[in-house]
Amino acid sequence: MDLFNNVSIKTRLWLIMFFMALMMLFGGGVGLAGIVMADKALDAAYKDSLEPTKMVSRIMLLMGENRAQVMLWLQHNAENHSSKMHDDNPLATHISTIVKNRDEITALVAEYKKRNLTAEEQDLAEKYAAARALFVNEGLMPAVAALQAADYQKANEVLLWRINPYYEAANVQAAALLQKILETAKADYVSAEKRYSMIRNAVIGSTLLGIFLVTIAATLLIRSIVRPLNRAVGHFKDIAQGNLSESIAVSGRDEIGQVLSELATMQSKLKAIIGELDYLASTDKLTGSWNRRRLEETVKSEMDRMKRYGHPLCVMVFDIDFFKKINDRYGHGTGDMVLVELAAHIRASLRTSDSLTRWGGEEFVVLCPNTTLSTASLLAERLRNKIAEADFPEVGHVTVSVGVAECISGETWEQWFKRTDEALYRAKSGGRNQVQVAPETPDRTGTGESVAANFAQLIWHKTFESGNEVIDRQHQGLFNDANELLAAILSGRTVDEMGALMDTLVRDVVKHFQEEEAILVAAGYPGAAGHAAIHRELIDGAGLLVKRLHAGNLGIGEVFNFMAHDVVAKHMLEADREFFPYLKAKN
Ligand code: GH3
Ligand code: MG
Ligand code: MG
Repeated sequence: MDLFNNVSIKTRLWLIMFFMALMMLFGGGVGLAGIVMADKALDAAYKDSLEPTKMVSRIMLLMGENRAQVMLWLQHNAENHSSKMHDDNPLATHISTIVKNRDEITALVAEYKKRNLTAEEQDLAEKYAAARALFVNEGLMPAVAALQAADYQKANEVLLWRINPYYEAANVQAAALLQKILETAKADYVSAEKRYSMIRNAVIGSTLLGIFLVTIAATLLIRSIVRPLNRAVGHFKDIAQGNLSESIAVSGRDEIGQVLSELATMQSKLKAIIGELDYLASTDKLTGSWNRRRLEETVKSEMDRMKRYGHPLCVMVFDIDFFKKINDRYGHGTGDMVLVELAAHIRASLRTSDSLTRWGGEEFVVLCPNTTLSTASLLAERLRNKIAEADFPEVGHVTVSVGVAECISGETWEQWFKRTDEALYRAKSGGRNQVQVAPETPDRTGTGESVAANFAQLIWHKTFESGNEVIDRQHQGLFNDANELLAAILSGRTVDEMGALMDTLVRDVVKHFQEEEAILVAAGYPGAAGHAAIHRELIDGAGLLVKRLHAGNLGIGEVFNFMAHDVVAKHMLEADREFFPYLKAKN
């Protein structure tokens, strides 16, 4: 049995089918042998049906001999000059021969009549018997009587006038009977022969047809079982190799269909479990941020993208100041709450492409793809400020120190992170609650292209309308300023021309902020003071960058990124939106 189990189902099915075909062949062979035997029996029957011809021939021979005996007897006439030539043959011999022959004929006739005769044979046999009776009664017996009386004259007359013609007539009848017997036997034989070959062909044909049908049935059966099985095996292999994305088509409700359906269920459950495990394995349980493992995977792919497309890539490390004291004073549970709150504050200020990771203990890392060092340092500064101003339940104020660094092409993650950590160390030793930027900045000449890669034209849309005409007009004006500057950068104008456009943009921004603040105050918007503070932060940042631009420390692209993205677009679409409903309600 074990041996059988080691053979594939396909081979097993073929073996069974082959065995069935063999059985059919054997059955056909036995049938054929039977038919061959029947054929031999047929030959024997044919021979048997020819038996009567022997009898009839024998009767004719005996009748002929009796006629000869009469003729020989006639030789005993003393008047016959040659009568002395067979003196040694006594008269009694002729008589006894005739009587013996006659008795044998009578016995043969009786035996012949016992056979199964056809009507025609019967009729011919009757006629032959009548002719023979005439031969015996009218010919042979009167001749014997005359001879016994030594009346040779009469005997001779009987021989010539009776025996001879009756003998001839009987011969004719015998010949007709013989002919009939032969014909009947032949016809029987031919029709039996026909039947025989028909049956033989039917046996051979049905055996071959049977084998053919068994082969077709075997092929279909094997296909219907083995193919889906092979498909199932393929799916099992995929799953075993961890490939869960192949879709499993379930067709039919047979056993294999059920296996595939269960497999599909198993695959989707596995997918869900793996997804959950993946989430658990890549997430920090306390804060819901990424963990180190997940960050390091992402860093790898982001560094690849940076290499391939030249996109800037920045990282910042946040470390809570004097966290140990918080723990010591309020307990570990409160410390945990601070970590959760802090993570939430940071997360709320990030773009969707940025990611927050709990690096360990009270240290967090923010990865900012497609972000220059200047933008990242402003973001870090904004976050630091936001945290410093936030009110943490129980604890009150918490500050963080931040290190920021942009990835330099050719350096490893470890080297890059070490520079960030060094910046953080400077922030700590410089008095905490501050941002320090790693000094090394990648060389960015040919600003036009890197800006073009990051920015498209700013296009005004109806949903940007605030509900105040002045504010909307100024917002559109800022969009135009930014677009003009972008066009200038992309068409490679002189630095002076671009500087002038930048100054216009900054001037318009400052003017717009002032007017917007006045409108908000006049409208009695409760968040007016907070919004003005955001404006101040942005203007400070812009002023700093423009100063560095004019001092030749910074590319025009860096400044444009900040002005167009952070000051105009992002601020208008985020912070400004908070008062839109207020102004709209006032209208
Ligand atoms: P510094 O300003 O120099 O960073 O001072 P610090 O006290 O924050 O730094 P230090 O590295 O000495 O202490 C970090 C503390 O963070 C020590 C540890 O007990 C605490 N800590 C680490 N992980 C957790 C945590 O999961 N929950 C809480 N509540 N505390 C943690
Ligand atoms: Mg620390
Ligand atoms: Mg700390």
